[in-house]
Amino acid sequence: MYSSEQLTEWDKKYIWHPFTQMEDYMDIQPLVIERGEGFYLIDTDGRKYIDGVSSLWVLVHGHGKKELVEVIEQQSKQLCHSTLLGLTNVPAVVLAKKLIDIAPEGLSKVFYSDNGSTSVEIALKMAYQYWQQKGDKKKKRFISFANGYHGDTIGSVSVGGIDLFHKVYRPLLFRNYKSPSPYCYRCPLKLQKETCGLACVERFEKIVKRHKDEVCAVIIEPIVQGAAGMIVQPDGFLSAVRGIANENGLLFIADEVATGFGRTGNMFACEKENVIPDFLCVAKSITGGYLPLAATLTTDEIFGGFLGRFEDFKTFFHGHTYTGNPLACSVAVKNIELYEEEQLIEKLKGKIALLQKELQGFYQLMHVGDVRQRGFMIGIELVKNRKTKRPYPHKEKIGQKVTWEARKRGVVIRPLGDVIVLMPPLAIDEITLKELVKVTYESIKTVTGM
Ligand SMILES: *Cc1c(COP(=O)(O)O)cnc(C)c1O
Repeated sequence: MYSSEQLTEWDKKYIWHPFTQMEDYMDIQPLVIERGEGFYLIDTDGRKYIDGVSSLWVLVHGHGKKELVEVIEQQSKQLCHSTLLGLTNVPAVVLAKKLIDIAPEGLSKVFYSDNGSTSVEIALKMAYQYWQQKGDKKKKRFISFANGYHGDTIGSVSVGGIDLFHKVYRPLLFRNYKSPSPYCYRCPLKLQKETCGLACVERFEKIVKRHKDEVCAVIIEPIVQGAAGMIVQPDGFLSAVRGIANENGLLFIADEVATGFGRTGNMFACEKENVIPDFLCVAKSITGGYLPLAATLTTDEIFGGFLGRFEDFKTFFHGHTYTGNPLACSVAVKNIELYEEEQLIEKLKGKIALLQKELQGFYQLMHVGDVRQRGFMIGIELVKNRKTKRPYPHKEKIGQKVTWEARKRGVVIRPLGDVIVLMPPLAIDEITLKELVKVTYESIKTVTGM
């Protein structure tokens, strides 16, 4: 066994943490997690913390879920890995069938990878190659949305729209067209949600009309733009955008890496507006937070565009070493079965309503500018001045301070800038959920001073 001090020392010495300013990290006392138990994380000193963001949006049934642990154990005795390049394996087949069963109708093929970024990368490459092989060689661009986040690989960053993360890489990225973000609290068109008539959709339509001959696909995070700060789209936005893409012959990529598997209250966010995409990217919650896995689902139409004789070179030349990993696929199968067996989505409704009620109270805090919620995805935007919506200066790190305060009170959360994010595990009980909300409230109150 290693002591907390030893682990902390080696951590600082050897690990470069993601999305972390390591100069700051050197000054803090890192939290070393040793175990998980239900909805709690437990550190090397035995302290317990509510897992308030589902270990970065993946945990569904809780840590140490017996059924999931057992499936991994059983599968590991059978087979831990075998390639999907030219072969297949049992869990990969069963999962593909299950995914198609639960996905919006019309999606019929599953292409595996191991993280959200690659699931997007695959959709982009497939969309592009589909048109190339169809003979529409001019179609090389994508339309994406400001404030979109689709992952960290160069392709997915190219269609991303978060300047803070993406600006520095701009010279490396391929060009695409950006439509305004449906960020109603800070409307980029300076309009009011009640009276705008979805003017951002008109902007989107203009871009589509002007550039459609050179565009292969539209990519969007349906219903909620997650990483930009849980930006909830106004009702009708998604279906309108999908309709316009359809009318103009553009493919439609729904990036449900964050929203998929119940996070918005439906199995997939697209269902909320009866949208059927040409590509559905899923990852995060697909294994309930147990192993890395992702999938890109698509239609017979797209699949058909890649068929041909070997010497036609229409093959999709893409695949990762661990594509279709049997361990990850087996736990994903059981994860999905548990949604059904435990009526997880049904049981969410009451908890979503509870959250809605509790969250209203946050407006009593003078520095809470906007509280956004869709299902179990919550963003609380803190502002220096509520009237003018003026943000806090970056160097105040107000979001980080709130999460550190919460940690002292036994909750692990992670902010997105000045947006405090809550993304509880779907199976969380009401008592723990209330405690999570209460600690978040108190932490904001303590840090902002009112
Ligand atoms: C997290 C996320 C990704 C990237 O997934 P990784 O597994 O981190 O590569 C892509 N799209 C959305 C919408 C996400 O939230």
